[in-house]
Amino acid sequence: TKQIYDFSEGNMKMRDLLGGKGANLSEMTNMGLPVPHGFTVTTEACHEYQQTHQLSKHLLNDIDQAIQTLSRQTNKEFNGTSHPLLISVRSGAAISMPGMMDTILNIGLNDQTVVTIAELTHNERFAYDSYRRLLAMFGNVVYGISEASFDQVLTDTKNAHHYESDLDLTVADLKQIVSHFKNIYEISDKGVFPQDPKEQLLAAINAVFDSWNNHRAQIYRRENHISEELGTAVNIQEMVFGNYGENSGTGVAFTRNPSTGEAGLFGEYLLNAQGEDVVAGIRTPQPVATLKASMPDTYEQLLDIANKLETHYREMQDLEFTIEDGRLYLLQTRSGKRTPSAAVKIAVDLVGEGLIDQKTALLRLEPESISKMLHPEFDLHDLKQHDLLTTGLPASPGAASGQVYFTAEDAKRASDAGQKVVLMRSDTSPEDIEGMIVSQAIVTSRGGMTSHAAVVARGMAATGVVGAHELEVDYERKIAKIKGQIIHEGDWVSVDGTSGNLYSGMVKTRDATIKGELSAFLNWAKQNSKMGVYTNADTPKDFQKALDFDADGIGLTRTEHMFFKPERLLQMRRLILAEDLQGRKDPLAKLLQMQQGDFYELYKLAGDKEVTIRLLDPPLHEFLPHDEKEIQAVSKQTGISPEHLRDRINSLKESNPMLGHRGDRLAVTFPDIYEMQVQAIMNAVIRLAGEGITIQPHIMIPLTDSQAEMAWVRDLVTKQIKQSSNEKSIKVQYTVGTMMEMPRACMTADAIAESSDFFSFGTNDLTQLTFGYSRDDVGSFMPKYIEYGILPADPFQTIDVEGVGELMKIAIKKGRKTKNDLPIGVCGEVGGDPKSIEFFEEIGITYVSCSPYRVPVARLAAAQAHI
Ligand code: PEP
Ligand code: MG
Repeated sequence: TKQIYDFSEGNMKMRDLLGGKGANLSEMTNMGLPVPHGFTVTTEACHEYQQTHQLSKHLLNDIDQAIQTLSRQTNKEFNGTSHPLLISVRSGAAISMPGMMDTILNIGLNDQTVVTIAELTHNERFAYDSYRRLLAMFGNVVYGISEASFDQVLTDTKNAHHYESDLDLTVADLKQIVSHFKNIYEISDKGVFPQDPKEQLLAAINAVFDSWNNHRAQIYRRENHISEELGTAVNIQEMVFGNYGENSGTGVAFTRNPSTGEAGLFGEYLLNAQGEDVVAGIRTPQPVATLKASMPDTYEQLLDIANKLETHYREMQDLEFTIEDGRLYLLQTRSGKRTPSAAVKIAVDLVGEGLIDQKTALLRLEPESISKMLHPEFDLHDLKQHDLLTTGLPASPGAASGQVYFTAEDAKRASDAGQKVVLMRSDTSPEDIEGMIVSQAIVTSRGGMTSHAAVVARGMAATGVVGAHELEVDYERKIAKIKGQIIHEGDWVSVDGTSGNLYSGMVKTRDATIKGELSAFLNWAKQNSKMGVYTNADTPKDFQKALDFDADGIGLTRTEHMFFKPERLLQMRRLILAEDLQGRKDPLAKLLQMQQGDFYELYKLAGDKEVTIRLLDPPLHEFLPHDEKEIQAVSKQTGISPEHLRDRINSLKESNPMLGHRGDRLAVTFPDIYEMQVQAIMNAVIRLAGEGITIQPHIMIPLTDSQAEMAWVRDLVTKQIKQSSNEKSIKVQYTVGTMMEMPRACMTADAIAESSDFFSFGTNDLTQLTFGYSRDDVGSFMPKYIEYGILPADPFQTIDVEGVGELMKIAIKKGRKTKNDLPIGVCGEVGGDPKSIEFFEEIGITYVSCSPYRVPVARLAAAQAHI
C-alpha cells in the first residue's frame, strides 16, 4: 500500500492516515497557501515499524522517490554541491499530543553543505547557526543525549563573552559551538553525527516512530485515553529559515484571542529565530500586532491567510509561520486550544458570522467546561506563592479561602464574629448543616463524591473537597495533620473544589460571571434538547440560583434538609422522643407551620414551573444527639432526662441505618409525619390559590420496594390531599410518584407504575444497593478500584451502564408498559454528569435533576445527547 503522500495528494479528512499536522499541511497546500513542499509518511508505516522495528525495503524505496520529487520541486539536491536541500522531520499523530514527540530541523547539513550554504546565502552566521541547531536536536532525539548538555555550551559561551542573547553569538563562536557539540557526541559514546544526509533522514524517521512509544508519550496517551493503535505520521518538508537575519522570523498566531475569544489575530513572533525559540523562552517574543509596523505587507498577508483558514475550517485556528527574508510560509494549522469562556464566545460569534450552525456550535464545547465558568477561580499568579498541602476528591467546584474550624459549632461562632471559615472534618453529618452553611468551603478526609459533605456542598454551591486521605483531624486537640504538617484552628487555608487541591494561606480569587454569549449559548442548548433539566433544591436561595441558570423546575426537594435548622431540629427531636401520640401533636403542629412556609416560598418562586417535593427519607436517629455533650444540651432544651434520652437513642440505633427504618418505611410506622408534610404542601398550595396562583403539587415517595407498599403510602397521601382540599372546598390537581432506587422496585416497575404517576431514579441509592457499596464509605477503596482499572469510573459519579443502567432499562420498559407516557427522571448525582446524560437520552429518560451549578452543564450535555 501507499505509505507516502505528497502534500499535494492529501487533505484535511485524512487525519487517521496522515496525522493532524500532515492532513492540514496537505489541505493548506491544496488551498494554494504558501506551504514549503513536502510529504508525509503514513501512520500505517508506523504500525508496520512497531511490528518489525525497521523501515521496510518498500518504504525505503518510496522515501528515495519522494526525496527525488522534492529535489525536483525545489530545484535543490540532498547532499548537493551547488544547491543543498535542507529538510525538517516532524512527528504528527491523528490526535495532537503537544510536546510528546519529536522534531528535527535542518537535516541535510554537514561539514560540506554548511560551507556551501554559507557561500550561497552570503550568510555564514546563518549557516552555522542552523548547523549547531541540527547537531543539538539530532543528538537529543536520535541518541537521547540530554538537551541540557548542549544548552550548557551555549550558556557558557554567552557568559564568557558577556552576551545577552543568542543573537550576539558571532560566526567564530558558532563554529566553536559546532565543534563542542561534536565533542559531546564523542563523550556520550552513543554514536557519531552522520555526515550523510540520507543517513540523517532515516535515523530521524526511526527516532520519530520510536518516540511513539517513549515513556512520556505513553503516559500522555493513558491520561488522555488515546489509543495505542493510532501511531504517528512523519512529515518531511523543505526547510524555510526564520533565522536567516533580521528580515526573517518565526511565530505562532491564533485567529482569535484564546483566553477571551475576542476576534482578531493574536500571537507572538521572534525575529531571526527558528523552531522552538518562540516557545522556549530564550528571548521575549513580540506581539504579532507589531509586525504591522515592521513588515506591513507580510502582516497583511498573514491576516489574509488567517481569515482564509478560519473560513475554510469554520473554526478558530492556531498557526505556525515562518518569515524567510521577507517571505511568509505556513508550517502548521490546527484548531486552537482555548479557555472555556473563549470557547463560548467563539462558538457564538462563528454562528453570528454564518460559519457554523447552532448545533455545530453546541457540539464544540465540553459540557464540563461550562462549570468552570460559573465559579470563582484562584488567581494563577498568586497561587504560585502558596504551598499545596494535599489533594482530595473535587466534590464541589469553586475556589475559596478561610480560617479552619473543626466543628460546626466553632465554625458558626467564628462566622458570626465575621470570619471567613473553612469547615474541616473527617466527615460531616446532617447536624453539621449550620456550620456548613456558613463555611466558604468544606473539607473532609473521608467519604466519596456522594457522601453527605459532597452532596450538601454541591447543593448549596459551597466549595467542597472530600476524601483527602492524607488529612488527619484530631478533634480533641483541634488540629489537623497532613504528612507531619500541622494545621491549627484559625489557620488560613485555600480550597480548590475544581481540582481537589488544598493550599496553605489565603489565595486571591477571580470572580466569574455569566456573560451575554453564555446565556445565548445555553438558550440554544435548551432549544436543541429533548430531556428536561431540573434542579435539586431545598431552599429558595438554591432554587433561585438554579432559576438564574434557567432550570426547568425542581426535580427533588429533600425535605429532611429543612429540619436541620436549630428551632426545627428541636421540634423534630421532641417529635421523635415523644412517648405517645398525644406528645407528638404539638411538635408536629409546629413543624407543620414551618414546612408550609418553606413550600410556599418554593412554589412562589417556581411560578408555573414544576416542583417535586419528596417526603421524609432518612432514618430518624440522624436527628438525635450523638455525643454526651449534645445529650446534655438537648436534655436542657427538652426537659427530658439524659438517662431517658440515652435509652431512646439506643432503642433507635440500627446496625445498617441506610438499609433500616427510613424512607416510606417511616410512613408505615409513623404516618403522622407524612400526613403533616402533605398537609403543609396543601396549605401552601391553598394559600397561593388565594393569591390567584395555581400550583399542581408533585409529591414523591422515597425508597419504594413494592406495589403494595406504594399503594399503601399513596393512599395515605391522597387521603390527606382530599381532606385538605375538602376543608377549603378547592380542587387541586396533583401527582404522586416514586423514587426508583431499590433494585426490587426496578424489577417490579410495571406493578409499581399502577400506583405511581411518575418515576424518578435515585441513582445514589440504586448504585449503593446494586453494587452493595455503602455510599458514605467508598472513599476507602474506590480510588484503588479505579487506579487498577477494576472499575472504569466511580459509579456514583458516572452511571454504571452495565449494571445499574440495565436495571434502569428494565424499570423504564416495565413502567411504560403499564403507562406508556410515564414521566421518568433521574435525581441522583449522575443526573448532572454529561456521560451519564448521554446514556439517559438513549434509554428514554424524560428529565434529569441536579444541583444548581450543574444545571448549565447538564443542559449542554442534554443538547449534545440529542443532536
Ligand atoms: C438517590 O438516592 O439517588 C437520591 C436522589 O436520594 P438521596 O441522595 O437523598 O438518598
Ligand atoms: Mg435516595
